[in-house]
Order: sequence, then C-alpha cells, then structure tokens
Amino acid sequence: MPHDLAIIGGGIVGLSFAMQAAQAFPSTRIIVLEKEPGLARHQTGHNSGVIHSGVYYKAGSLKARMCVAGAREMVAFCARHSIPYEVCGKLIVATTAAESARLDDLRARGEANGLTGLQLLDRDAMRQVEPHVGGLRALHVPATGITDYSLVTAKYAALATERGVEIKTSSAVTAFTTNSSEVLIHTRAGNFPARYVVNCAGLYSDRIAQLAGHDPALILVPFRGEYYDLIPARANLVRNLIYPVPDPAYPFLGVHFTRRIHGNVDAGPNAVLAFRREGYHRTDFDLHETMEVMRYFGFRVMARQHWKNGLSEMQRSWSKRKFVSSCQRLLPEVQMQDMTPGGSGVRAQALAPDGTLVDDFRFLPRGRFLHVLNVPSPAATASLPIGREIVQMVRQSALITE
Ligand SMILES: Cc1cc2nc3c(=O)[nH]c(=O)nc-3n(C[C@H](O)[C@H](O)[C@H](O)COP(=O)(O)OP(=O)(O)OC[C@H]3O[C@@H](n4cnc5c(N)ncnc54)[C@H](O)[C@@H]3O)c2cc1C
Repeated sequence: MPHDLAIIGGGIVGLSFAMQAAQAFPSTRIIVLEKEPGLARHQTGHNSGVIHSGVYYKAGSLKARMCVAGAREMVAFCARHSIPYEVCGKLIVATTAAESARLDDLRARGEANGLTGLQLLDRDAMRQVEPHVGGLRALHVPATGITDYSLVTAKYAALATERGVEIKTSSAVTAFTTNSSEVLIHTRAGNFPARYVVNCAGLYSDRIAQLAGHDPALILVPFRGEYYDLIPARANLVRNLIYPVPDPAYPFLGVHFTRRIHGNVDAGPNAVLAFRREGYHRTDFDLHETMEVMRYFGFRVMARQHWKNGLSEMQRSWSKRKFVSSCQRLLPEVQMQDMTPGGSGVRAQALAPDGTLVDDFRFLPRGRFLHVLNVPSPAATASLPIGREIVQMVRQSALITE
C-alpha cells in the first residue's frame, strides 16, 4: 500500500508535524523516514534545552510569532505529558556601556512580541537574581524555561504512532523518481511511494531539495557549538540561565550558562565552522562537504566579511583559556579548573547566494514536495506552531485532504 504522506527526518520538526498531520488528516497513511537508527540524533538531541521566550526576534517575523506561541504551548505540552520542564526565567547581562544601551532595544522588541514581565535590573537587583553574575545591568526575562527536547520528540513520536503514523528508522533517503501521480522515494531500506513529501531533514534539507530537482536558493553551512560543563562543586555559581547581550550582526546568541533540566550546568555553545555537516568533533572532516561550502559564492562573501570573528571563534574552540575568559565576563568567579569539556551540537545555518545569513524560518512548497529549509533556534521551542504551519501548507497544496 503506498503512503499518502511521507516525512523525511525524525527530528523535533518532522515528528511535531507527523503528530499533528495524523490528527488533521485522519484517513491519510503517513510514514516518517529517518536515516539514523533512532530519533532526535542530530540538532534536536544536541541543543541547549532552552524554551526560548521570543524576546530576541524581529517583530512580525515567523520566528517571533512562532516562538512566543511555541513557548506557551511547549510548557503546556510538557505539563500535560509529564515531561520535565521548568519556567525558571533568564538574565541577559550587559557587560559594556554599548551592550547596556542595546538592552533597552531588546526590552522594546520583547514587548512588541507580546512578552510581559520584562524587567531592566541594575547591578544590585540583578545580583539578587544571580548572586555571582558580573556586568553592569541586565534584562530579566521571566518566561524562559528549560526542558529535554529528546523527551519531547519521543512523546511526539509516541502520539503520532498511536494515531497510525509509521516511523521507519535506518532509512536514509537517497533519491526520488517523480511522475504525475506520485513520488517514489528511494531509501537504504527500500523504495516508498507517496503522494506528497515533506522534507524535514535538518542539516541536509537543502540536499534533499536538490535531490527532488528543486533549487533551495541557499546552502546549509554547519556551525559546531561546543559546550563545557561546570563541575558539580561549582554548579552553585549559576541558579538558572545567564546570557550575554546578542551581537546584532550574528544570529547565534553567544556563549551562555544554562542550568539543564537534569540538574547540571553548562556553558556554551560557541559557533565554529564545521568541516562536516554532522561534525561533532574538532577533527571531523569531509572533503566533499567542505569543498561544497568553500565553492559557494555566498560563503566566500560571508567569509570576507566575518573572517575575524570566525578566526576568534576557532581560537576559542582550541583554547580552553580563551573560552573560560569569555565566560568570566558573565561570571567573574569561574576558573579554568571549574570547567570540563562537555558535548557539542551542529547548527544548520542557512546562507543565501549573496552571502547574507538567512534569519527567519523558510519553507519552500514545490509540486508534490514541501521543503522545510531553515528552522534554526528557536525551532525546538516553536516546534508545535511550526508543525501546525506545515499542516496548513500541506492542506493548501490540495494534494492531501481530510
Ligand atoms: C547547539 C545547538 C543549540 C540549540 N539550542 C536550542 C535551544 O536551546 N532552544 C531551541 O528552541 N532551539 C535550539 N536549537 C535549535 C533546535 O535544536 C533546532 O532548530 C531543531 O532541533 C531543528 O529540528 P529539525 O527536526 O529540523 O532538525 P534535526 O533535529 O537535525 O532533524 C533532522 C533529521 O533528519 C534526518 N535526516 C537527514 N538527512 C536524511 C535523509 N537523507 N534521509 C532520512 N533522514 C534524514 C537526520 O538524521 C535528523 O534526524 C539549538 C541547536 C543547536 C545545534
């Protein structure tokens, strides 16, 4: 029996959509094809676990809208399904006069996005929230929380399965053959016909679009984010979440301290160009994937503009001393011996042909395909609204009906 709807990618976005599609299209046969032997093995399973509030994003953007709604829905979903979570709030800390001025803009942006309870705190007040923090003043964001997105994804998958979705792991998609009535999806576990395909392949979603014969008009450049763990004896330096003021020129949020839902505290992630899409270690290298990025005109434009920053991120990656010293801006008491190397994750950073970093979420509907091309942070937080948005787009295609 052919499937009506095939979803490529068993991360949080693919599974959120699978779960919601099974409800929206109850008589539809749905399959999820995941290349790894289990779910959530890439971005979803290697992130900071933060339920972002939506304070950072440009008013009116998909990110702003879906993050604010997503945070509320994520908290409700975790509560309903007994997934551990906490709405612990966070401090965004200015350490220079320039950053301090940007905090006012950040508060205005957060309020424009519909957040309430944002408070600018002077040095004394911020040290009542986080007694060991350095810096000049801070923005307190009460709606930020923490959870475990692998557990959230497992729950999405369980609910999808209960509603009849088939999940096939170890099934990497390698090619498509498309005719007027269906798409034949070639995978390492056999071929699957489907009437409509939703590409949620994360770090490889541009490649999947190309395999389908569509121009994604961007390339996904992998940026590794490395973490250090605070040793348990020093975890008391951080109560909740401590972030720097983001640099408007870069989409990444800067090295921050995060108390994880399972109790440990880590610092990170940095943002280092990875020489492999799934390159979790400094020495990981794939010649083809590296050359693909280097040959891309937009990458060379970006490299010319941001090479200094890129170099300094690389130095911080190889030098623990540099990493710790950037952490000391937020937490002056932290010392080299307090931190041990932790995990890492790789972000899919979309880059346009002209070298601009693609900021907002991006979807590309083409014939029997919908490509989810750019869903970086805060897409784990926003995964429920993103899944709902994809349901709408599939409905609009008129190829899948209730
Ligand atoms: C270091 C880091 C920190 C982050 N912190 C946060 C945070 O605190 N809060 C937040 O909201 N967001 C955060 N994010 C962002 C968030 O994790 C991602 O936006 C989200 O996980 C994207 O989910 P996804 O399903 O699109 O991608 P993924 O989780 O990467 O899933 C894509 C899936 O597609 C599969 N796949 C790829 N190619 C194929 C193929 N050919 N055939 C079949 N399957 C394939 C992969 O194996 C993978 O399982 C962070 C990301 C990183 C990397």
